[in-house]
Amino acid sequence: MGKTKLITSIDEMKEIVKDLKLEGLSIGFVPTMGYLHDGHISLMNCSKKDNDITVVSVFVNPIQFGKNEDYEKYPRDIERDLEICSNVGVDYLFHPSQKEMYPEDYSTFVVVEGITEILCGAYREGHFKGVATVVNKFFNILKPNRAYFGKKDYQQLKVIQRMVRDLNMDVEVIGCPLIREKDGLAMSSRNKYLSPEERKSALSISKALFEAKRRFEEGETNPEALKKLIRDIISSYPNTKIQYVEIVDGETLKFKEKAEKGDVIAIAVFVGDTRLIDNIEL
Ligand code: AMP
Repeated sequence: MGKTKLITSIDEMKEIVKDLKLEGLSIGFVPTMGYLHDGHISLMNCSKKDNDITVVSVFVNPIQFGKNEDYEKYPRDIERDLEICSNVGVDYLFHPSQKEMYPEDYSTFVVVEGITEILCGAYREGHFKGVATVVNKFFNILKPNRAYFGKKDYQQLKVIQRMVRDLNMDVEVIGCPLIREKDGLAMSSRNKYLSPEERKSALSISKALFEAKRRFEEGETNPEALKKLIRDIISSYPNTKIQYVEIVDGETLKFKEKAEKGDVIAIAVFVGDTRLIDNIEL
């Protein structure tokens, strides 16, 4: 496998992209905040399959974190990330500095309305504005043919798809399956925060989602009944606090009065101080 090239300068990255385009090569892009795991790797593999060149970005985007969130303590290990990218056969790892991405007088933002006020958006003010803005910047720098997002962050995927549609952007946004640990826990860089005890409690989230899906398949379509089932399972584990659990349309993210195939159960739970999200498609 060729070694992944680490690029930290925006101008250098743009020059490389210009040359790749002149050669007629297609570019697949996987945006991440780093501390890479198998969820990220699955996106890289999707990109490698579809494109000549794969670019992964690692950037802990300050403007998508709220004041009391974990921007400072978010796990970072660029050497480890570079090694993972090399092993997977990623061509470029783009790791720009915060200073270059957001100079002091930075003042331009992208706001996607209508699907950002609910679920995570209701509790993380400005989060999706930060996400849409940074993804837009990356699209401008990297001019990817395709960009890969995990369904782990289901609302984020829908926000980006909406932005690309509304702004007539020339990139295909591809949603990839949510990857779980063997025992069911959704993979996340934030799982690193969990103590062994909390790790056990965190398992309640996927357990509850699987159980709700099973009940739906048996015929339960009342969202309140499904949500109660989930709340009961999760709250029976120590140190868990549900922030929200909702059943929404898989496309519009609108709340449902009756659960149907194609809907998504989305959930955010604090386990100790760690906020985890997960979801399941019905
Ligand atoms: P993050 O580094 O957490 O911002 O995630 C970067 C990308 O990887 C996003 O598109 C996430 O949805 C995706 N991702 C993170 N965890 C998973 C997972 N467990 N399964 C699939 N995709 C994931």
